[in-house]
Amino acid sequence: MTSFFRAEVDAMTGYIPGEQPKPGSKIIKLNSNENPYPPSPKVKEVLQNFDWEWLRRYPNASATDFRNAISEVLNVPADWIIVGNGSDEVLNLIIRACTDSHRKVVYPMPTYILYRTLVEMQAAQKVEIDYPSDYKLPIEELVKVDGAVTIIATPNSPSGHIVPLENLRELATRLSGILVIDEAYVDFGNGDALSLVKEFNNVISIRTLSKGYSLAGIRLGFAIANPNLLQGLYKVKDSHNIDAIACAVGAAAIRDQDYKNYCVKKVKISRDKLSSDLKKLSFKVWDSHTNCLLVEPPQGNAEYLYLRLKEQGIWIRYFNQEGLEDKLRITVGTDEENKVLIEALGELIECN
Ligand SMILES: *Cc1c(COP(=O)(O)O)cnc(C)c1O
Repeated sequence: MTSFFRAEVDAMTGYIPGEQPKPGSKIIKLNSNENPYPPSPKVKEVLQNFDWEWLRRYPNASATDFRNAISEVLNVPADWIIVGNGSDEVLNLIIRACTDSHRKVVYPMPTYILYRTLVEMQAAQKVEIDYPSDYKLPIEELVKVDGAVTIIATPNSPSGHIVPLENLRELATRLSGILVIDEAYVDFGNGDALSLVKEFNNVISIRTLSKGYSLAGIRLGFAIANPNLLQGLYKVKDSHNIDAIACAVGAAAIRDQDYKNYCVKKVKISRDKLSSDLKKLSFKVWDSHTNCLLVEPPQGNAEYLYLRLKEQGIWIRYFNQEGLEDKLRITVGTDEENKVLIEALGELIECN
């Protein structure tokens, strides 16, 4: 039978998101890098006071209230910002606006695997370059490809490492296409790439409210770049991609930097404790600037541990992917959650 779909769509696997439990279930959920703390109390206030009459009308097409809030907080002009339904949508806009079957998208692996899905969907040319084992950025190889789009996640997931700003600057200078810097985890690292966005007309920084701001459920991300670079993205964006509630929630959340910083600080402290506890269990643990840890169990039985933990209601992430088969990605939870995980791992390792 002939397919209803384009050949590229038939050929692709599709992105497999981290599983979500039923509301109310007692899962310890450390598989999607969500923040373990609730969103800002200011978000609750916005939701409680939201005038439902607003829902009758279409929302503002460019999420102006949210962009103005971002502009104040990050000190960039509002017309240097585009808002997406999650940063996933912003990434999608870039791939759609900038690539086709003659153009290359290049990124170092392992990284956020959605990049692959987006490129396959667009039937653009996909070039995946392996990171060396020390996660130093393979600059020469990336430059040699000189893609229409080069994507670097920093801090990166699942490895947790940071790409030094000098490396990014060198890429921005030497590439003829766009350099996308996915800063989904910027709140958990130190420093950001905003200076490069201002310095280079081919650099775009992607941010999300899903991780640092505990708002994965509302779907809000944004990108910062010079208006010239955003122009094409605005053309391919759905006119009303951000609903009225999300726009109001996002503005309140990003203005409450104190609360975000307070939660992030707690996560970082828990991250260090979790890391040292895992090392005591003889896990190899990579240094992380995100809210997750990439780890290698001492007996190499990553998938086994993932499955046994799942039976006990503790969900972590296993990627059945080249270079990651013997590793696990663990989202940093609350200290209580991490403790339960450590105890469970301790027992599993002992009786293996
Ligand atoms: C979580 C994540 C995103 C997706 O964020 P959303 O805004 O929830 O779509 C993007 N990039 C990386 C590297 C991520 O880990």
